Amino acid sequence: AVKMRSRHVFKSFGATQVLKDVSVRVHDGEIVALIGPSGAGKSTFLRCVNNLELIDSGYIEVDGELIGYRKADDHLQPLGDREASRQRARIGMVFQHFNLFRHMTATQNVAYGPRQVLGMNRAAAERRAVELLGRMGLAGREHHYPRQLSGGQQQRVAIARALAMDPSMILLDEPTSALDPELRVEVATVIRDLARQECTMLMATHDIPLVEDIADRIIFMVDGTIVEEGPAEQVLNAP
Ligand code: ADP
Ligand code: ADP
Repeated sequence: AVKMRSRHVFKSFGATQVLKDVSVRVHDGEIVALIGPSGAGKSTFLRCVNNLELIDSGYIEVDGELIGYRKADDHLQPLGDREASRQRARIGMVFQHFNLFRHMTATQNVAYGPRQVLGMNRAAAERRAVELLGRMGLAGREHHYPRQLSGGQQQRVAIARALAMDPSMILLDEPTSALDPELRVEVATVIRDLARQECTMLMATHDIPLVEDIADRIIFMVDGTIVEEGPAEQVLNAP
């Protein structure tokens, strides 16, 4: 089944056209890597899928539901804040720079969404957080604040935080780019484990070894347009 689909997506910031006719499909359980030079529009596309940015035209659907807009008579109308954040909550997002709350422990960071957005009680949310932190190899770090954790550990907290919402799919934006090589491996290992667990993932990355390792398919984007698409070996070995 198709998990996410975009068709003819265009997006500009002022006079700069950043996405030009982007059509993508991601199937259930598929791991898709979005690669291409800096400025290609990878991050913007992920932000549009997560409804952090509104597209100008075309459409994006996740689980058959239109993202960012609803149909009103003969046109599309942007969603209100409430609906928009409900959609955002269903899609996990992992950022390059972790984006953890500095004043919260690892457990509090992971439990925050389940408590505030899913309405889970504190004990249940923290149980879920502790279990996920354990799966990320962070047992014993539950009460650490972000500044007490390495970059790799912080990124694993961020991944646990995304998973805590039981997302329909996970978007990762350069999840290993801010990390030293040895920390990169820690995070890559966690992402590889997730990939084996029937997660659906769309990941923007420059991490070619990780892509070769886990991606079912690669989408190569340049200057806001998809220029090549296919299995990793085909796209990476293209002339
Ligand atoms: P539709 O989803 O309506 O068939 P398109 O045929 O235009 O739309 O495909 C949308 C995007 O999905 C295109 O970028 C296309 O390359 C990609 N796509 C087509 N077939 C597949 C497939 N079997 N697996 C993954 N992506 C595909
Ligand atoms: P990538 O992730 O492939 O490096 P981005 O999506 O970050 O690409 O950026 C694509 C282009 O969009 C760049 O030229 C960038 O400067 C521009 N851009 C991204 N976000 C904004 C914004 N909020 N306002 C203006 N320009 C933006």
